Amino acid sequence: MEFISTRGFSDSVSFTEAVSQGLAPDGGLYLPCQFPDLSRNFDRWENLAYDELCFEFFKFFATDMDTSVLQGCIEKAYQNFSVDEVAPLVSITDKWQVLELFHGPTLAFKDFALQLLGNLYEAQIERTGKSLTILGATSGDTGAAAISGLVGKEGVEVFILYPNGKVSPLQERQMTCTGASNVYPLAIEGTFDDAQKTVKEIFADLSFREEVGLSAVNSINLARILAQSVYYLYAWLRLDPSLRQTTSFIVPTGNFGNVFAGWLLTKMNVPIHEFRVATNQNDVLHRLFNSGEYSLSEVCPSLAPSMDIQVASNFERLLYFMMDQDTDKVREVMHSFGHQGRYCFDDFMPVGFSSSRASDDEIPSLISQVWERHQYLVDPHTACAFKDLDPHQSCIVLATAHPAKFPSVYENAQIEIPTSAVLESLLSVEPIKYEVGVDADAVRSFILQKLAK
Ligand SMILES: *Cc1c(COP(=O)(O)O)cnc(C)c1O
Repeated sequence: MEFISTRGFSDSVSFTEAVSQGLAPDGGLYLPCQFPDLSRNFDRWENLAYDELCFEFFKFFATDMDTSVLQGCIEKAYQNFSVDEVAPLVSITDKWQVLELFHGPTLAFKDFALQLLGNLYEAQIERTGKSLTILGATSGDTGAAAISGLVGKEGVEVFILYPNGKVSPLQERQMTCTGASNVYPLAIEGTFDDAQKTVKEIFADLSFREEVGLSAVNSINLARILAQSVYYLYAWLRLDPSLRQTTSFIVPTGNFGNVFAGWLLTKMNVPIHEFRVATNQNDVLHRLFNSGEYSLSEVCPSLAPSMDIQVASNFERLLYFMMDQDTDKVREVMHSFGHQGRYCFDDFMPVGFSSSRASDDEIPSLISQVWERHQYLVDPHTACAFKDLDPHQSCIVLATAHPAKFPSVYENAQIEIPTSAVLESLLSVEPIKYEVGVDADAVRSFILQKLAK
């Protein structure tokens, strides 16, 4: 299978190329150029274990990989999860289920993609002998998950930018206490969006990309999206067939990668009812889905920091389909958005989405409500999903992080502070981080200096 760029100015590439490049050379994001019809496999797939389903799914896309290598990468990725089911589905009412995506090594859903991506990179380096430099920006969880997926991997150097003082102390420890010599957490002065902008600028520097073998672990990487599609499929196949066409997925959303991964299944003949984009107070997407206007405003740090985002990178992938795969139109919208910070769509009607917004005032009470009514403890990101949730609607809420990652939120709610042994073990390790200017030049020279050593 070939993969094409949303901006139409790059050649199509194979799976392994799309994965190692991350961002396409024309600045667009990769998407499959055609989609398999998954519906004929539903019966056969219903009882597969998580890694087996993942393998069946990836075989459609990773057609330039040796299947036994692919299988090895997948098996190894999900062995690091702490529960056999990998992604357990827990009923909290007769209508609502929670898909727990926080049983990976860093206790957030990003492990699903990044444990696998680390193995895909490793397989590729083994095959080509070419080392890779990984560069990413994080609002907290991506960095931790990327680092965990890449720690100690031969031939990979990892540089992760994060906004100093704006990730939770535990998230920072997850990035800075690995003790690994191939990992460089860079604390920059600025917001996540500043960090992401610098990363994008460095990716646009094609000669630098070539020179250091740059690859992206942000959710612009296609392998991340595809790896995330798998748990939607896994959960959907576990629904009673009578509920499959009426159940909504409720998705705590920042960069739009997670919810897009689910939506992509609808292109493969998986008839999912609806996706709800649940934002925090940084509500660019909620405003977009309500008014058709995509417009930036200041990032306002919230209790759900991994969703503190204004530029939702993966929206470009949905845009590509909304524009009927017309890459000229995608470029036009992205250009105008890049220059003016806003774009107004006429008749904005992406099928199959709704949205909600939970402010910081609401998050603690949503956590208490879910706890009191259902004896189920959610983290502040997952709490956003419960805003305006219809008790009569069958739905699957994606629980994106383990509550123990965000202990301070529970102090005021008179709920016992959740703990996790994995996180506690980090407290005894000395953190190592680097303070670097947020401009692209400073980051580029830091990378070159570290690679030269
Ligand atoms: C990254 C993250 C999100 C947002 O996911 P996107 O793919 O960026 O929309 C939500 N919750 C948690 C806990 C996260 O780490």
